[in-house]
Amino acid sequence: MKKHNFSAGPCILPQSVLQQAANAVTNFNGLDLSLIEISHRSKDFVAVMEKARSLVLELLDLENKGYKVLFLQGGASLEFLMTPYNLLKIGGKADYLDTGTWSTKAIKEVQTLGTVNVVASSKDKNYTYIPKNYTIDETADYFHCTSNNTIRGTQMKSFPKTNIPLVCDMSSDIFSRELDFSQFDLIYAGAQKNMGPAGTTLVVVKESILGKTGRTIPSMLNYQIHIDKDSMFNTPSVFAVYVSMLTLQWLKDLGGIKAIEKINNAKAELLYNEIDNNPLFEGSAVKEDRSNMNVTFLLKDESKKEKFDKICQEAGINGLNGHRSVGGYRASIYNALPLESVQVLVDLMKQL
Ligand SMILES: *Cc1c(COP(=O)(O)O)cnc(C)c1O
Repeated sequence: MKKHNFSAGPCILPQSVLQQAANAVTNFNGLDLSLIEISHRSKDFVAVMEKARSLVLELLDLENKGYKVLFLQGGASLEFLMTPYNLLKIGGKADYLDTGTWSTKAIKEVQTLGTVNVVASSKDKNYTYIPKNYTIDETADYFHCTSNNTIRGTQMKSFPKTNIPLVCDMSSDIFSRELDFSQFDLIYAGAQKNMGPAGTTLVVVKESILGKTGRTIPSMLNYQIHIDKDSMFNTPSVFAVYVSMLTLQWLKDLGGIKAIEKINNAKAELLYNEIDNNPLFEGSAVKEDRSNMNVTFLLKDESKKEKFDKICQEAGINGLNGHRSVGGYRASIYNALPLESVQVLVDLMKQL
C-alpha cells in the first residue's frame, strides 16, 4: 500500500529520486559499476559534486556572491562545534538565540571554546514561540539562530539585521521557502530533513568571514581546508551527495524554491486549518510562529488516541508521533511530501 510519510528525519524523498538512486547503486552512468564502488576522484563522481554545488548556489540565488558550498560529514551536530572553531576569536564572544533543543545543543558546544551569550530564549514557555525584540551585541564575533525548530514546530519568519556574521542552522527548512539568503554569512543543514539521505551536511559559507580567529583549527574542522579541497579533503559521503544532487535537480525542474513554497504553504494551510477548526485538536505552537515544515499538535481527548492512531495506521500514515521529548503529534510536511498525503490526514482528523 502507498504510504504517507510524515517522518521528521530522515524523511520522505521524491519517488523519482529514489528510483534514480537505486539504479545508480547497481549501474552508475552506464559504467557497469556502482556509484558506491568507484573512486570519489573519478570524473563521473567529481561531476556529481560540482553539479550539487552549483545547484545549491543557483537555487539559493547565491551565485557570484562570494559563497562556497561544502558537503561535509558529522551532521548538523558537528557544525555546532565547527561554527565556533571557525568564527569565534580567541577570547571572543558569540551571541545565540535559544529556540529549542537544537539551539541548546549548539550553545553547549560553543562553551567548550569560549564565551557564549544567549540573547533571548523561549524556554520559559517550552519553546512554543520565537523570541523577538532582543539586542545583538555588535562586538560579538557572530550571531547564531535556528530557522526552524523541528521538534517544537516553530519557525523564524524574519531574521535580525546585524553587521556581525549571521549564522543559521537551516537543517529542517532549507530550500522550502524564499528568503534573501545573502543576509546569511554561514548556513548549514543536515541533508536528511529536506535535501537527501543522512550522511552529508550542507554548508554554505561566505569565504570572506573565515580566517580571522587566530586559533589553530584541526584540519577536519577547518572550513578553509574543505573549501580548498572541494569537499574532498577526505572521502566524501558519495551516496548522500549524489542523492542530494538528484533532489536539488528535482526541485529545480519543479520551478525552484518559489514553486515549492507555494505547495508548502498550501499543505501547511490545509493542516493548520483543520487543527484550528476541529474541536478535538489544538496546535502546540504560537500561531504567528508556526512552522510550515513541522506541524505540531495535540489531541485534546486522550480517549480518542487509540482510535486516531489506528485509523492513521490503516491509512498508511507513517511518522506522525511527536518527538520523544515532547509527545503529541508532529506532521513533518517537507518538500517531497505531496498535498494528497496531507489531505488524507485531514480527512482522518475530520472522521475522528
Ligand atoms: C535534525 C536537526 C539537527 C541535527 O542534525 P544531525 O544531522 O542529526 O546532526 C540540527 N538542527 C536541526 C534544526 C535539526 O532539525
